[in-house]
Amino acid sequence: PPDSEALGRSTWTFLHTMAAYYPNQPTVPQQQGMQIFLRQFAQVYPCGHCASHLRSEMKTDPPRVNSRADLSQWMCETHNKVNDLLGKKIFDCSKVDERWRDGPKD
Ligand code: FAD
Repeated sequence: PPDSEALGRSTWTFLHTMAAYYPNQPTVPQQQGMQIFLRQFAQVYPCGHCASHLRSEMKTDPPRVNSRADLSQWMCETHNKVNDLLGKKIFDCSKVDERWRDGPKD
């Protein structure tokens, strides 16, 4: 498979940024579109065991697409499950906007 570290890093950049710029009050079609996107994403992500793990996580904890805040938190929690699995540091999910949207306060 491709370099899974680089692929993972750039994919998380995309996923968290997508969540950070998702509408605060998405329309029903926008919510459905995001559900479809995430389900399809979990089918095609080019790291087979990663995608398979993601699909099973999405069964027990389905994507929360009701709002930007909910999707951002869901994405953070989902990433933390992978961090935990890999023995990486758990990210503080109260800091997702600072990391992926607003930039650090100075
Ligand atoms: P990454 O985990 O890639 O994180 C990049 C940056 O995101 C970090 O530097 C930090 O600033 C920020 N960040 C970290 N945690 C969070 C969080 N919870 N919320 C918001 N921001 C955060 N690798 C495997 O070996 N096995 C797997 O099963 C696996 N599954 C994956 C599933 C998916 C959907 C994706 C996208 C990747 C997966 N990977 C998996 C790759 C793995 O998650 C990492 O991307 C890779 O190991 C590189 O790690 P990294 O230390 O550079 O930081």
